[in-house]
Amino acid sequence: MSVADPLDSAVCEGVARADYDPFFTETPEAQADALAMCRICPAKAACLAYAVETGQVFGIWGGKTQAQIRRLIVRARGGRPRGHLVPPGHPNADKTHCKHGHPFDAANTYYAANGERRCRACRRARLARARRLAGRADGGER
Ligand code: SF4
Ligand SMILES: [Zn+2]
Repeated sequence: MSVADPLDSAVCEGVARADYDPFFTETPEAQADALAMCRICPAKAACLAYAVETGQVFGIWGGKTQAQIRRLIVRARGGRPRGHLVPPGHPNADKTHCKHGHPFDAANTYYAANGERRCRACRRARLARARRLAGRADGGER
């Protein structure tokens, strides 16, 4: 492994499993784990910016709790709350693959606080994108 991108190691990468994801949980202990990882994560700023910009209303991102992120999103949108969440029980809940074609199998699935399934591969892609954006903002390398 080379040094390359200082943001190459989002600390949460590889931590979450289908049955344990401290970034999407209700228990204070697990949330504390997640927040501790964020605290030392080089991708923190980009991660939070991404979460706010894209309206990530579930989970811990960039060292902020779900409630904190929701407030930031509302503020960023001039007080307008996010309008289109897919509720549990929505037809999409029956799909075997995410909209980008990744399978909703045990290795690639995590669950949001409301029980919705989420695609791990897509989350990795979002984090990678956030890291690239942060790399650019930081001048790209170190
Ligand atoms: S700041 Fe973002 S990328 Fe880093 S550990 Fe926290 S959730 Fe993961
Ligand atoms: Zn996907």
